[in-house]
Amino acid sequence: MTLATAPVSSRESVRWARAAAAAALAVPAAGVERRVWAVRGLADTALGCLLLDAPETLAIVDEAVRDAAFGPAGAEAARLRRVRSLAGPVPPFYPADSAPAVRTRSTAPEVRAAVEALRQYCAALRDPRPRAPSAPRPTPRPNTRGRAGPAPPPPPQWGPAPPLASPAPAPPCSGLSVRGLVAWGGGLRPSACDHSAVGVSPAFPPGTAWRTWFRLPRGVVLVERPAVAPVRSRAVWRAVHDGAHLDHLAALPPAAPAHAEYGGGLLTAEAYAMAVEVLAAAEAAWSGRDGLVRELCDGLAERAARPAGGGAFGALPTLAAAYVLGPLRLLGGADRALPGRLGPDLRARWGRAVARVPAAAALDRRIGALC
Ligand SMILES: [Zn+2]
Repeated sequence: MTLATAPVSSRESVRWARAAAAAALAVPAAGVERRVWAVRGLADTALGCLLLDAPETLAIVDEAVRDAAFGPAGAEAARLRRVRSLAGPVPPFYPADSAPAVRTRSTAPEVRAAVEALRQYCAALRDPRPRAPSAPRPTPRPNTRGRAGPAPPPPPQWGPAPPLASPAPAPPCSGLSVRGLVAWGGGLRPSACDHSAVGVSPAFPPGTAWRTWFRLPRGVVLVERPAVAPVRSRAVWRAVHDGAHLDHLAALPPAAPAHAEYGGGLLTAEAYAMAVEVLAAAEAAWSGRDGLVRELCDGLAERAARPAGGGAFGALPTLAAAYVLGPLRLLGGADRALPGRLGPDLRARWGRAVARVPAAAALDRRIGALC
């Protein structure tokens, strides 16, 4: 299970693994969430060791797990064990996968308000009546500030109208590679860059990969994992959400791992990727692509359910909140944690959406009261 890229020296791999393991343990949470989040991060670190084709660096993950002496960590412990087992027998001190983590849920009123705001936003976008702006649509124009190649266009099955920035037709989404989807999604991302050089891993076995974007010593890698969601959902996830993660990585200093991959940096990264999704949904509505609106809103609804303690986020309320309150704060201007032009680009595009899409205007008013 390796990635065919240029070889990475053992010294580089060891340095990366030590930095990644330390970052995995430095999570901004307490109690059960701290434990579960750290185990989750170490599972990602173990996956990175395999992506580097440096299984010997798993000794660094083993050492971190042994020293931490984790208690029950539920599904995250199971994933850590599954990833570790890809390189041989799992050491006996790894947390047991049979003991469930204590479930928690976010009760913060601002998180509940953000969940409700996102639900109302999606309900309004799905409703065709308030859409249909009377003003003329803007002339499509490049949005990549010259950093990307020609903006790939939208797949035709998502509707005939052009997006705000990509006027030409394109092949079906099911026929695009991962890199092709990321390139296509550039029209929906405010700080899109050229990611044609990213590596793409072979598909990892079910239940091993969660975070699918890594910055390793020799560059950025997208991780393939077995298809579970429908092809259109996966296409949007790659094109918009993962594409936004790559744009974020591109704006950060070149350290590997990047600050955005673990702990507090990950909170900002997920908030940014979600903010780009919220913006993309408004732009898709503006350009009349109802199918794309549905896909994006389905994804937003799934994330909005996370703070209630569902799915893989049952013991991760801080991380779950980053997917709902985080994007609204960024869209509201609390974007100092974003590097480079990410914040100004996001706010400029959101301002245009607010001026044209009633649902975006309504969400923006709620953001003003919330943030
Ligand atoms: Zn993400």
